[in-house]
Amino acid sequence: MAYDDGNVFARILRGELPCKKVYESDFALAFHDINPQAPVHVLVIPKGRYVSMDDFSAQAGAAEQAGFLRAVGETARALGLVDGGYRILANHGRDAHQEVPHLHIHIFAGRPLGPMLDGGSLPPDGSFRRG
Ligand code: AMP
Repeated sequence: MAYDDGNVFARILRGELPCKKVYESDFALAFHDINPQAPVHVLVIPKGRYVSMDDFSAQAGAAEQAGFLRAVGETARALGLVDGGYRILANHGRDAHQEVPHLHIHIFAGRPLGPMLDGGSLPPDGSFRRG
């Protein structure tokens, strides 16, 4: 998938849309999610033009990859989340329900987060099938 410069996170990076910034470095920007799913819900995005984790892990240089990962940890530390704990998540593509085509890592925290995935939509026998 080609990168779309009109996506909402590209617009935030260009300063065309506001965000509630938490952390910024040469490689990444972190800001509060507009529709939080937990008491703390922050997104960390690379400053480069990458559609998803697949694109980023294949195309980004070593400094960019290291800088981005460092920014995720720095953001969690800046928010004081280390002791209580937090969850990180990145959606890639259709099955993961990725909505914004610019790589973003979600950081969730601030309450017990429960099981890792919502299994409620799986059939009782645990099998699954692509729709
Ligand atoms: P995903 O489904 O992984 O692509 O997640 C996209 C996330 O971006 C959702 O949690 C949205 O609430 C969030 N989001 C969309 N637009 C904005 C925005 N302008 N500022 C902050 N978060 C946003």
